[in-house]
Amino acid sequence: IAPLTGKVALVTGGSRGIGAAVATRLAADGADVVLTYQHRADRAADVVAAIKSAGRRALAVQADSADADAVRTSVEAAVAEFGRLDILVNNAGLGVLAPLEKLTLDDIDRSLAVNVRGPLVAAQAAVPHMVEGGRIITIGSCVAERVAFPGFAAYATSKSALLGLTRALARELGGRGITATLVHPGPTDTDMNPADGPGAEAQSALTSLGTYGEAVDVAATVAHLAGEGGRYVTGTAVAVDGGFAG
Ligand code: NDP
Repeated sequence: IAPLTGKVALVTGGSRGIGAAVATRLAADGADVVLTYQHRADRAADVVAAIKSAGRRALAVQADSADADAVRTSVEAAVAEFGRLDILVNNAGLGVLAPLEKLTLDDIDRSLAVNVRGPLVAAQAAVPHMVEGGRIITIGSCVAERVAFPGFAAYATSKSALLGLTRALARELGGRGITATLVHPGPTDTDMNPADGPGAEAQSALTSLGTYGEAVDVAATVAHLAGEGGRYVTGTAVAVDGGFAG
């Protein structure tokens, strides 16, 4: 029997990249999945169709993670549709990379709203629906551990804040049997950071393995944390970065 059978997962930013891989993997492990997206309804529909054709239930909800009401509504939609919520994967994120003097206030505010406030608000909305065994898994970044290039002030600030969020959630929710963990991907081949992009070679060179990761590599660790294997892991970050931060 698939390990997540009977569980319901909400994956933010599940229409492309790492989020799509996570949504698909959790469904393959037996979960019913709600995914959010911002613009790409077409890609979200593709992921939903793939999950349904594999025999699980799925729903896509348009919700900008910077919009707290939309985030809350997506959580309520998951519970309304599937009757429960066991796993929250905070994946939606954006990377504004720019020299310090070029970063606008809007860049800074949006980075923090999507990458930090969104996960916090989603956790706030999800936790009342969670029972013992609940999981809050957030996708951070290896730049929280090692900033290897200039231009990362807004992005690294936002991703480092997720360490504090994860530790605080773990401490606050541990008594209820709910875990909070952070996954730190390294360079991962997606639209955000294509393996054939201009900065790709330099990123690969800084990993121990010398290559990019795939979205499915991150999804595999998320699936582990979401399942029984994750039950004693909380308040910490797991790197899936090919050794980038090591
Ligand atoms: P992509 O840009 O390839 O995909 C982003 C996904 O998030 C899309 O589904 C997109 O929806 C959704 N999304 C973006 N902004 C919002 C928003 N404001 N509200 C709701 N959904 C949103 O990114 P990746 O898959 O590469 O990244 C996923 C996560 O992994 C991010 O948090 C990123 O910071 C992190 N990460 C990625 C790394 C990499 O090398 N790729 C490395 C380290 C961390 P839509 O399709 O509608 O646009």
